[in-house]
Parts: sequence; C-alpha cells; structure tokens
Amino acid sequence: MEFSTSPVISCEDGVSEINSTTGMDDIIKWWDSLSVLLKSCFTTTRVDLEVPKQDSESIIMWTVSSTADILASGDGKCRDQVMRYVADDLLGLQILLQNMEEGNNIGTKKRESISKVLRELVNPKHGKLRATIINQGIELNYLPKSIKILKDLLRHSSNCKIPEEMEIVESTIVNFLWFLSAIATNDSSFARHVRDMLKVKFFHSEVYKKIFFAKSASHYPLLKILRQLSKNDDTASILGKEGVMTTIRKSFSLVGTTPGGKLLIIMDILSQLTKKKTNSTRFQKAGLLVKVMQVFSNWELWRGQGLLRLSKFLISTYNHVARTPSGRKAIIKCDAILQIRKFCDACPSERSFDEVLMRISGLVATCYHKDILPLDKVESPIVFQVPDAVMKVQDCGSSSDDEGSDDGDEDDDKSDDNGSDDDVASSDDSGDKDKNNDNQSSDDDMEPLKVRSKLKLSTRRSSTGDHQQSLPSNMQRQSISSQDSKLDSYKKFFTEFEVTKNGLFHRKVTETKSTPMAMSLASLVDENLNETSKPKGIPRSEHKYSWITDNKDCEYVYWTSITELRRQYSIVANSINHVAPFVKIPYPDFAFAYSQKSVENMLPTTDRALLRSKIISYISRTVGGESFKPKVIYSLDSLLTNTEENSSAKQKPLRNRDEKEIGNYNKRLGLEFESRFESGNLRKAIQVGERDYDLLITSDVNSRHHNQWFYFQVSNTVNDKMYTFNIINCTKTNSLFNYGMQPLYYSVTDATKGKAGWQRSGHSICYYKNGYKCATSKKRNCSKVYHTLSFSLSFAHKGDIVYIAYHLPYPYTRLMVELNAMLKASESRDDIIVKYDTLCQSLNKNEVPLLTITSQLDERSVNTREIIFLTSRVHPGESNANWVMKGILEFLLFGKTSHVQALLKKYVFKIVPMLNVEGVINGCHRCGLTSEDLNRCWKMPSEILHPTIFHTKMLIEYCCKILNLTPALYCDLHGHSRRKNCFFYGCSFSKSWQNKDKLELDDSKCLLSLPESMDRISSAFCLSYCNYDVRKSRETTARVAVWRDYRIPRSYTLECSYCGFDRGQFKGIAFGTNHLLEIGKDLCKSCLEL
Ligand SMILES: [Zn+2]
Repeated sequence: MEFSTSPVISCEDGVSEINSTTGMDDIIKWWDSLSVLLKSCFTTTRVDLEVPKQDSESIIMWTVSSTADILASGDGKCRDQVMRYVADDLLGLQILLQNMEEGNNIGTKKRESISKVLRELVNPKHGKLRATIINQGIELNYLPKSIKILKDLLRHSSNCKIPEEMEIVESTIVNFLWFLSAIATNDSSFARHVRDMLKVKFFHSEVYKKIFFAKSASHYPLLKILRQLSKNDDTASILGKEGVMTTIRKSFSLVGTTPGGKLLIIMDILSQLTKKKTNSTRFQKAGLLVKVMQVFSNWELWRGQGLLRLSKFLISTYNHVARTPSGRKAIIKCDAILQIRKFCDACPSERSFDEVLMRISGLVATCYHKDILPLDKVESPIVFQVPDAVMKVQDCGSSSDDEGSDDGDEDDDKSDDNGSDDDVASSDDSGDKDKNNDNQSSDDDMEPLKVRSKLKLSTRRSSTGDHQQSLPSNMQRQSISSQDSKLDSYKKFFTEFEVTKNGLFHRKVTETKSTPMAMSLASLVDENLNETSKPKGIPRSEHKYSWITDNKDCEYVYWTSITELRRQYSIVANSINHVAPFVKIPYPDFAFAYSQKSVENMLPTTDRALLRSKIISYISRTVGGESFKPKVIYSLDSLLTNTEENSSAKQKPLRNRDEKEIGNYNKRLGLEFESRFESGNLRKAIQVGERDYDLLITSDVNSRHHNQWFYFQVSNTVNDKMYTFNIINCTKTNSLFNYGMQPLYYSVTDATKGKAGWQRSGHSICYYKNGYKCATSKKRNCSKVYHTLSFSLSFAHKGDIVYIAYHLPYPYTRLMVELNAMLKASESRDDIIVKYDTLCQSLNKNEVPLLTITSQLDERSVNTREIIFLTSRVHPGESNANWVMKGILEFLLFGKTSHVQALLKKYVFKIVPMLNVEGVINGCHRCGLTSEDLNRCWKMPSEILHPTIFHTKMLIEYCCKILNLTPALYCDLHGHSRRKNCFFYGCSFSKSWQNKDKLELDDSKCLLSLPESMDRISSAFCLSYCNYDVRKSRETTARVAVWRDYRIPRSYTLECSYCGFDRGQFKGIAFGTNHLLEIGKDLCKSCLEL
C-alpha cells in the first residue's frame, strides 16, 4: 500500500500528463496490492473465496468486481479499509478513470464493475473519504475525461445489438453519471468549464435528453448535473436557447407529482434558470407556470424541510417571473396568487417559514404594483448645498455590503451573534442564490447624487486622502498637522494650562469664559415670543427647573425658573440655522422633558404570531383589493413646494402654542400630523384605514438612506380608540422593536395636568420586511426591501397633541440652553474651572460647543494633571448618547465633592457634547449635511466638510504635540439599536486586522481597567458585550483613528442601548432618562479608578 513514489499530478497538467506519467508497473502494483487487501478482507469475513485464475487480467477483473461488492456491502470495517486504500492518494482514482477511459478494450463487464466502484466511492455513507475522492476527482481534471468516457459509452450503447450487453452498458452509464454528478455538485467551476469546452449542448441534448427519458435510474444524477449548469448565468442562458424549458416540462411527467427529492431538484432548477429574464419568458411559453402550480397543489403532502424548500423555490421562481408585466399578468391570471394565499392561511408555524411569508408579501406587492414607495423620489427633499465642487454621496456602510450591515451602530455585525436565531427578519438562507441578482442591480445604489456647489470652494477631501492612507501612522500624524502654525490657534482652548506674563497661572479661568453666542441675541427677539410667561405644564411649585434629577450624589443643586428657560429656548430656537423647514418649537423639548416614570417595563419579545398576522393581513388586503381609498394626510414634499406656505412659515418667529391648542377637536378632520420642528423628520402620512396610517420618514439630508430615527407630532386625537401606525420605509434589517422596545410618547394634555414627561407606549409592535423594494434601483429585480415598524396606540384625551419618537429626543437647542444654565450655575464656584468655548462653526454655521472642566490649577498641580476627552452624538439618531453626556456634565459640575473633587484634581475634562450638530437639528439618523457618516471621517477629516471632526482631532493633536500630554482616555458616546445594556468597544493590538499591529504588546491592564471598573459600578453595563477588535472597516472611526494616530491606549466607544436592561436587578426594564443619566455618572466614577 505504499505509493509514496507515485507521480504527483497537478490540475494544469491535464489528462495526457496523467497517462504518460503513470507507468504500467505502477498500475499492476496497485491492482496487486488491492487484490491482496481484498483477499484478506474475504478471509476475515469468511466469505467464500473464489480464487481467480492466475493470469493478471483475471485477478484485476476479480479485484474490481470484489471492490464494488465490498464498497456496496454493509460490512463497515472492510468497506472502510478498501475505501481508505483507494483514497490513499491520487493513483487509485487515476487508475480507475484511466481504465474507464480505455473504452471497450477492457471489456464491457469490467468497465461496468469499475463504474460501480466509482459510484460507490462517492456514496455519501463514506463521509470524509468521499470528500477526499471528490477533491481528487477535481484535481485529476475529471471533466474532459468524463466527457470522453460518456461519449464512448453513448456510442457503444447505440451500436450495441445484443440486449444483455446493452443493459450492461446502460448500467455503466448510470453508475458513471452518479460519480460525475457527485463531483460536479462539489465543483464550483463545473458549469464554467462545461461552457469553456462548449459542451453545454452535449450535456443537455446528448446526455440529459437521451438518457433521462430512457432510464429512470438516471434521473437523480442527471437532474443534479442540470442543476449545476442552471446555476451559472452563461450556461443557464445557453440551456434556455437549447430548449431546456421544454425538456423540463417533459421531465415533470416522468417524475410525477408525488413529493420527493427529484421534484425538489426540478423546482430548484427552475428557480435558478428563471433568474435570466429570457428564461422566465421561455418558462411561461412552455406552460411551466401551470406545471409548478400542479406540483404545489399537493403541498399538504409535503413535510418539514421538503415543504420549506419547495415553497422557497416556487416563490423564487414566481418572483423572477413577476419582473415583467406579462409575467405579473400571467401569475394573477392563472390564480397562482390565490393558491399561495391559501397556503399562507395554513402555513406551518415553524419559524423557518416566516421568511417564506415575507417573500410572498414581496411577490404580492410586485404583482399588484405595491412595491414602490409612495414617493415621487426617494432622495430626501431636504437638500443642502455642500461646499465642494461635486459631492459624492457616500452611503456610508451601505454601498457594497449586504443589507444587514447598513446599520446605525458602530459595530453592527458584531451584534449579529446576539439573537440572530431570533431574527424573524433574517435574510436568505444560504441555499438560495437570490442575492446574486441583488448584486447586479445594486449599482444604482452607489450612483453619486450630485449636489452642485454655489460656493465652488476648492477643498477636495480626497485629494491627499488616498495617498495618506497607506502611510505609517507617524507619517500621517505629521501630515495632518502639516498645518503646524494652525495648531497654535488651538492654544486658546487650553488657557488653563497657560502661564501668564507675570509667571502665574490663571487663577480663575472662569473669568474668561464665554457663553453660547445665541444667548447674546436676546435683545433681537420678537416680543411675541414672550408667550411663555405662564407655563401650564408644571405646577407653580415646580416652576423652577432642577438640573439634578437625583441629588443623592450631588451637592450643588441649581434651580432656574422654567419661564426664563423657555424664554432662552425660544431665543436659541429662533437663532439657529436649519436646512429643514421649521414651523414650531416642539413642546417636549421646550418643556425640558424627562421620562415620566422612573421604571417602565419592556414588552415581551414580539410574538411571531403577531408578525405573521400582520404579513398575512397585508397579503390578503393587497390580493383582495383595498376597501379604503388611501388618503395623503401630510406631505413634506408638497409643503416644501408650496411657496405661500413656505414664505409665511419663514416670517413667523418659531414658538410653541400647544398648551393653547389642546382641547380643540374638529370632528370633520381625522388625525393631523406635523414634524416641521427641530429633529423632526416625518415626510408623509397616508391614511389607509379608518384609524390606520402608513408613515414615511425623511432620509438624511442629501441622502436616500438611513431611515430609522423618527420624531413627529399628531393632533386632533380621539380618545380611547386604537390607532395603528406603520412606518413603512425603515432601512435596518432588524430592530429592538421586536425585542421589547416601545416608541416614546409625550402627551401635552398630560403635561398640563401635571403628568409631564416621555413614556414608552404602544402595543402590537413589530418590525418586519415589507414588500417595498428599495427604489434606489430602477430595476425591478432588486430584492433589497424596506422594513415596516408597526405599532398601535390609543390616546387618553380628545383633541390632544401627542409627540411620538424613536427615542428620548435631545435637540441642539436644549443642549445650548442647558449648557448656558449650567455655566451660570457654576459661576459662583471658585474651586472649579468651567470654561465654555465655541470649538468651531458647523457646516451650516451653528456654534459647536466645547467644555473644559477641572478644578483650579496651581503651579504644582498643572504638571500632574491628565486630560480626558469625551465626545458624543456623532450619530444624530443616537439621542441616548446626549442623555449620557448630560449625566456626565451634571456629575462633574454638581456632583458631591468626595467623588468629584478627586476626579477634577486628577483630570482636565475636554468635552464636545454634540459632534453632529447639523444632523441633530435637521432630523437625520446617521449623517450630517454631506450624507457622510462623520464617524467614518476621522482618518482625514476635512476642515470644510467635517469641521467638528477636524477641530476635535486638532484639539487632541494639540494635547499630544504641543502640551506633550497623551490623553488618559478618549471616549465617544453612541447608541446601539440591536443590543441591550451598555458596553465598550476598544482597541487591542492583538485583535487588529493588521499584522504589524500584532507585533505590538497590549497593556491589557490599562485597556481593561475602565471596562472592569464600569462593570463594578454600573448596573447597566455588560462586560461580555465589550469587544476590542480593530477591524479594517473601522479604521476611520474616532475610536480607532485616535488610538492609531495618537497612540491613546484607552480609546473607547461607549455603546448604550436604545432599549434597556436584559440582566441584573433591572432585567426587563426599559432605559429612561434617569438610567441614561446614571450611566453618565457611572462612567465618571469609573474614571477615578483608571
Ligand atoms: Zn453610533
């Protein structure tokens, strides 16, 4: 059995090489050894041993047929021994194939025996050894050999006159086809090679047609071969021209309609072939639509996986056919839809069938022309003239990836392992190759949306960027700060470190602090604004606003009159620049709303039955025709084009009159919608039932993506009736709304009755794939679809005004008013330095605040003080990040001395509380005004296009280069839409995608100390969710960029769920403002333990 010296044959060498290098001696030796092995097998099993005649030909003959017998036998031990021997190296299979190839020279009987051996070698019962044989077949370049063998066998069979001999030849053919189909099924290049050898026609006409119809034993292997050919675009198209549809139609009658594997393969073949439009036309012409319906009419006889696959293949085929008008017509005309609808009603309850139902809803939508969103264009109607010659829309993260990774979170795919089993909206199973089609048609998604510039500034972000990417990090650092003189200009943000002319430190930097610019505009404000003198929302005793929600940790409590705060709110709201149109100030923000209750439970995970019933009712409603004529109630697009509306809206100062307007109920009107206010983003509301509304949210400015955040107002409510809202253009593939999250709800009437605040509300909540195609593509076969968030609400009051949001809003205006009040509150303190600076102007010229907080410095302490950088809200939809930031600021400014003093004596806090000011103002979810994800711009931020990122990075650069102080911590605050609790992402050299990083040593104590102390302190924190991978796709995020460029070892992202706790004492509780503020405090406390 030692054949270590046998020739090594590589794929490229091909057939001739094998023949010439395999000497006759090798072959004889191989047969000899095999026959010895077989004899021992027979002896041990005491089977009667017929000793062959002593000439070598007879021994070989005996050996071959015995091998076939043993491989087919049930004697596992001998079978394995023989199998191992043959699979030991390439030589065995090579000799067998070589003998087959020698044609009838070796004798009909012997060839049949060899074919039996080949068939047995690929029998699935041999497991791993079978895989070895298959790989050997591929290595031996089996295809040309096989074609030659098949041709020869076919010739032999047609020339054969003796019936017995003919039978042997046919059995040889069938055996050989089994062998071939097994390898072909595992050879991804099979179809391509058949095409290159121009043998598609041979396989279809010579092999398939001739044998399939003559020999039922050949059905399985032939169908498997045909399936392989149908999976390739080119061979599928040749097959179509060759009349494969007619062949399949005939095949159906041979296979029958009883459930079974052969029928499944035929259905699979059709779902593959019809991917080509020409083939789906041929499919219809061949009358196959009726045939597949006949097959499916027996669906009740199918079980489990078989039924699942059958229905998937069928719906796939229908979806392909439905791409053309005639196909859609045909599907409806032959009642295929009605058949499927019946299937829906009785569809098995297993989770795996949820996906089938979703595909059916997509098919129904396509057939009834309900697959394009009811919008004239998908792009956001809110357009900003980006100061760049041509601004390419980067659909950050969504361009080349699957739909799954177009996620609002930092590290979305990491979260896949969490509950992906529960993912009712999970994408296609691997067996279905629909995705190939998506890839073809996704090009449109990447088409740049050109926004012409008025300004024609010459800054091109990428002009040096690409080249910089490849430079080592220290070089990059140099290049970023090639504007070294510019770096000097950041000195003003670090006055606390400055020595004055007389050699003293600024004893009290607070004296130089500025206040938000908007505050100085007070004198310009219209008197009309002063309607806020008597806020009804808060009882008189509470007409002051406390900055501290929970003062057990806080020593300094500062109160401001709510009237004064509202006055300031109006001032700021009327002075900010916005691209989106505003007509009012949103009440909850104007009332500085918190969560109404301190404890709110999450809902149980969405019941799949609910989800199913929503999908099935959608299908029924669409198929059965709708009784209610849809009515557009609100359309931002029309409001924007209505010039009269626009100019009157612009002239009015923004205010809030909700308290005066509640209670007005107009019986003739239904529910009314509005979202033209800061952070609002409703685009369209369509009434589709008496109290059912389809809603569309506005994509980010200049974009057609990132639909997740929502914030809008409804009014003219009826009490105690159930309303259903379907947000039909969500773009994420899954959502915590299926896992217990509820939308936020704020009633103005409740507020005036003393129950102010946001509450989690809504029931029958589910999030699912709907039938609307992502109309970014004009091609109908794009199967990337939108998702619907559906929830039902009832209102407690008639004529109420209610605000509904994705998460607890925290707009820019509120930030500025609160910062101002906090600064005022800390003015009297001389133990701490609280400094407000305008870091820069945002793209649309709003001021971006920077805060510096530390305790008073003296000559001694300035040398020991470290810097902590905190940033937040780079993703505007992640409002929870700002609540955590508010918790941090409250703690640092008003926290108890015992905790805080040590912290402020140790560190100087540099805080940019809102990185994406523009996104927040204009109701975006992911981007700012340039439709770029600002957390993918940190490598080479543009001063013009990404000013907040640019200047924040320069601040860090100033610390490192000029002050020579590497920050002790950088942390960027985010929100997470798919996981619960809060957790960190960090950067570890050993977990980097770059090999050179792995040469560096991690200081794991340093890296892990913050997560570990957070784990001890915060009940919301989940250590096991933390992740320290450095992935290529994250190189441009804040966390990785500052870690790499400035070597800040503690560089983190704090991710905080939109939803709530799934562990510990608060398990099942939804996050409210109190919890988010607490997380901020806990983060500060953890910093003490660094
Ligand atoms: Zn984020």
